[in-house]
Amino acid sequence: MTDAIRPLIAGNWKMNGLKAAAAEFDAMLNGAAEVAGKADLLVCPPATLIAAFSDKARGKAVGVGAQDCHPKPSGAHTGDVAAEMLVDAGATAIIVGHSERRADHGEGDALIRHKAEAAWRAGAVAIVCIGETQAQRDAGQTLDILRGQLHGSLPEGSTAANLVVAYEPVWAIGTGLTPTSQDVEQIHGFIRELLTSRFKADGAAIRLLYGGSVKPSNAAELMAVKNVNGALIGGASLKAADFLAIAKGCP
Ligand code: PEP
Repeated sequence: MTDAIRPLIAGNWKMNGLKAAAAEFDAMLNGAAEVAGKADLLVCPPATLIAAFSDKARGKAVGVGAQDCHPKPSGAHTGDVAAEMLVDAGATAIIVGHSERRADHGEGDALIRHKAEAAWRAGAVAIVCIGETQAQRDAGQTLDILRGQLHGSLPEGSTAANLVVAYEPVWAIGTGLTPTSQDVEQIHGFIRELLTSRFKADGAAIRLLYGGSVKPSNAAELMAVKNVNGALIGGASLKAADFLAIAKGCP
């Protein structure tokens, strides 16, 4: 963990959560003050819950974010949601380029960059996800893949205030598998170098999250790794107790 960078613990609820999930979110709000000294907290529920959750979260130590956006502000795009609409509903950050969007919807780096710019246009922080697949890892291509994704997905003008990068090895998402701390340190160090060489002082301060099967039992070890400035959490973010326990694991 880089001392000067305050960690971010972000939950990605994916396509999970009906209105009744507000009770779990309430439990997160109630426990947030206890971990506020450790990290910033962000919950990204499905778009249908953003407005209700952000109303509840007003004045509390949990932010509300979104999981995706369309690059355009409005128009004939049936079923899509603009960044402006998400911000209007209360989102302060928008995840873009999650590997499930890249795989299920064929999203490429250029589109993801435009989505990140859309988040900025609307006034939200962009959380840009990158990560290699198992096949790419087996072929020894991890660093090349990450270099390409960073180059293509991050807009010019990225700063510590408008961008968060989440390194999420695809093979670690939802599988219970995690890279070793040594692997995470090497890869986060590599990403940090690229960010610093492109964005200078801002690149040195951009939050760099690890994501992929983070849970209370492995959080403290992963969060202590150099250049890990928090986590993006899928499954374990659905339960307040687990989500808060992960935040407690931050150094
Ligand atoms: C994710 O999908 O962003 C993720 C990290 O999922 P999980 O924590 O369930 O592996």
